Formats: sequence, C-alpha cells, structure tokens
Amino acid sequence: MYFNERIETMPVNALRKIQSEKLVQQLQYMYRNQPFYKKLWDEKNININKIKSIHDIQLLPLTTKDDLRNNYPFGLFAAPHEDIIRIHCSSGSTGKPTVVGYTKNDLDIFSETVARSLCCAGAKPGMKLHNAYGYGLFTGGLGLHYGAELLGMSVIPVSGGMTERQIMLLQDFGAEIISCTPSYALVLADKIRNEDPRLKKINLKYAVLGAEPWTEAIRKEVEQKLGVIATNIYGLSEICGPGISQEDFEEKNGSHIWEDHFYPEVIDTETKQPLAEGRDGILVFTTLTKTGMPLMRYMTNDICCLFYDKASKRTHVKMSGIKGRHDDMLIIRGVNLFHTQVEALLEHHPEFSNNYQLIVERENNLDKVTVAIELSEYIYREIGNSIETLGESNLYLDKLKHGLHERIKSNIGLSMDIQLRDLSSIPKSEGGKLKRIVDLRK
Ligand code: ADP
Repeated sequence: MYFNERIETMPVNALRKIQSEKLVQQLQYMYRNQPFYKKLWDEKNININKIKSIHDIQLLPLTTKDDLRNNYPFGLFAAPHEDIIRIHCSSGSTGKPTVVGYTKNDLDIFSETVARSLCCAGAKPGMKLHNAYGYGLFTGGLGLHYGAELLGMSVIPVSGGMTERQIMLLQDFGAEIISCTPSYALVLADKIRNEDPRLKKINLKYAVLGAEPWTEAIRKEVEQKLGVIATNIYGLSEICGPGISQEDFEEKNGSHIWEDHFYPEVIDTETKQPLAEGRDGILVFTTLTKTGMPLMRYMTNDICCLFYDKASKRTHVKMSGIKGRHDDMLIIRGVNLFHTQVEALLEHHPEFSNNYQLIVERENNLDKVTVAIELSEYIYREIGNSIETLGESNLYLDKLKHGLHERIKSNIGLSMDIQLRDLSSIPKSEGGKLKRIVDLRK
C-alpha cells in the first residue's frame, strides 16, 4: 500500500523535474532568509540564479554540523520566530546538540513522509502503532506519532522505558506495529521470551526500527523472537527526523529516500566529490521544501551508498544501511566504538578532567586503543605532584587506571590501555574543539 502513490511511483525523470523546480525555489528562499547562506554564497561568488537544475547542485558548497553549532541555537532559522511552531534537537551523540525549528509547512512534510514510511513498513489505516520511540526533544516519538495519525492509525504513545508495562500494553491493546530502536526491540523480545511464555498473545506483525545502526543478524533475531517483519527507518533531526527513508517490508534491501523532499548525494570521505551509485561515502542531504531551517548539501557524516532498485515498486532511490559515522566511529577488533561511549563512562568520575583522547594504533595486525586522559585539578591535592614527576609507579594512580580499565572493559567489551596525563597536556585542535580521536593507523 502507498500513502502517496503518484509521488512514490513517479518515473525518475519526472522526479528530477520536480526536484529542479523545488531547488530553484528553495535557493531563492534561503538566500533571502538565511544570512548564513547569503554570506557563504556571496563570498564564494556563487550566483544562485544560474542554478537551474538539480544536476547543478554540486556547484554549491557543503554545509557541516559545525556550521549548525556555530549558529547555535537559532542562527540558521529562515522563518520568523512566530512561524516556528516546534523545536527539536539532535540527541547529541556527537557533542552539543543541533537545534531545528519547524514551521507548519515542515511538520506537514514530516507527517507525510512518516506516513509514507509507515505504509512502506506494512502499516495500514486502522492499525495500532505501539510507539516506543522517546517523546521529547528527540524527533523519534513525535515524528512517528503525527505521521501515524495522518495515516489513520491509532497511536499508543508509550515512549521508551518501563518494559514490563510495555509488554502488558502490547498484550492488552494488541498493536500490530511497533516503532522503536533495534536495541530496544531486542530488550522487549528477550523479556517476553525469557520471562514468560506470553508471546502468542502479542499481536505484532511489523516492527519499524531505526535511530541507530543495526545489522541483518539483529533483524533476524527481532523477527524470530517477536514474530514480526522488521524494517529500517532512517532520519536525522537536522533534515527533518525519522522517515527521511524507509525500507519496504516485502523487499527489505535498503531504504527508499523520499527524494521529492530530501535530495541525497553520497560524497567521497576525502575528496568530498560525489560518488557513483553503489559506492560508499558520506551521505549528504538538501532539503527541497522546508521553510523553518532549510539546509543545502548537509553532510550527515553517516556512511552508506545509494542505488536505484529497478525491481522495486517505488521509484525513489534507496540507501544501504548506515555503515558508521564518518566523524567518530571506530571499528576495533570488530567492535563499533564511538568515543562518546568512553566519555559516558567518565561522566561521574571527578578525578578526570573532560579532556581526553582515544589513540588508535596497530600492533601485530591488531588495533589497539589507548585512552589518554587528563586528571582533574583536585587530584593534585591527593598525589601532591605532577604525573611527570611521580612517574608511573604510584599506587593511587594505579588504582585510578585499573578502575577505568575495568569499567571500559565491562561496558564496551574492549580492553584499552589507560594513560593518565597532567592537566592541560592534551592538545586542543584548531577550532578550539577537542580532538577526541588520534588514529595512527593511517
Ligand atoms: P544525533 O546526531 O545527535 O544522534 P539524531 O537524534 O537526529 O541526532 O540522530 C540522527 C542520527 O542517528 C543519524 O545521523 C544516524 O547517525 C543515526 N540514525 C538514525 N536512523 C538510523 C538508522 N536507521 N540506521 C543507522 N543510523 C541511524
């Protein structure tokens, strides 16, 4: 079933025509209403009037997450504040959150693309959606919610957590579809399977899973344990939220990007030049129709490839699953590692400052990670001297190191060397931002 059959099955040439028209309009709107883009394009001598087709888009410079951060919180809003009717933030997996403002127009687009996505995932009007995405600043909860309502579903806005209660509601209300992160789907599945044999009473048929990378192995496990067909939903708040792309429940081989609103490109991680279909690189989006905070060629930092699937019912381009995040994901001995995971473990330990680095090296063909971390100021009262003077053999420092090593090992599953450093000894990178990862493997 389609939510918007005409658009979803439109021939690619017709889609390109629409994209070109929308791009021209969007550029004019952005130039008039976003001083950031006016300045950027003027400085680079870009005459936007010369951009007539979607194929010219590569003449325009990229937008980065830093551009959003430098304009924190509302500097990139294009619409007057009275027209911004909702504000969301990214979940902040990679630093300070980025803020997004939505106009009525934008929320209509958001709901429409989520409604299309839900249909693509197997939903139909009249079905019940158990929405276990978090409600709040994160776009997942409210995004799925309004899209499902537009489609004509009954939404059960459970949000995250309280797993026992979720299981009770799944049984009593009989939702046919669940939306949540893949990891939460596994938690639910395990609880249902392990703690009581009530699975037969659960009426779920489909699971719409996203907001974090996941694998075919997880799909299999969720499908088996919950008795559902599980599909991928992808999105990011900067561009809109979940439902920028969605997998078809009968195809399950990549997610259709709703290209009449979000124009995708994939660029090389080094040269930043566009890559051909099927090649992995950084996913870039241009919003073609937004008015609250349109973005031009925004680098998501998510790594994937694009491809057209001629055998698919829908014509819109597909993206592969996200293979990682360019800026901060490391793969160490098969374990995906974000520096923020280590950071989270430092949070409640005042012995350490917040300045640290992960140093990655290759030793005997194996990757090795060292956490170099500065001590916090107050520690010097305990040890009385700098680490440099004390050297390595200090019982107190040994204990600190050992504690952190064990915490990382049990939470992340990797054994890392810990290197304690004196305060202010870890360099800061050019923009004043800390360089978290030093990759010596390249
Ligand atoms: P943050 O960048 O703070 O995590 P968001 O909450 O907007 O901000 O999350 C968007 C990011 O979440 C995406 O850029 C991507 O890295 C990840 N993401 C969202 N959906 C998926 C998905 N289906 N598969 C893999 N990663 C996803």
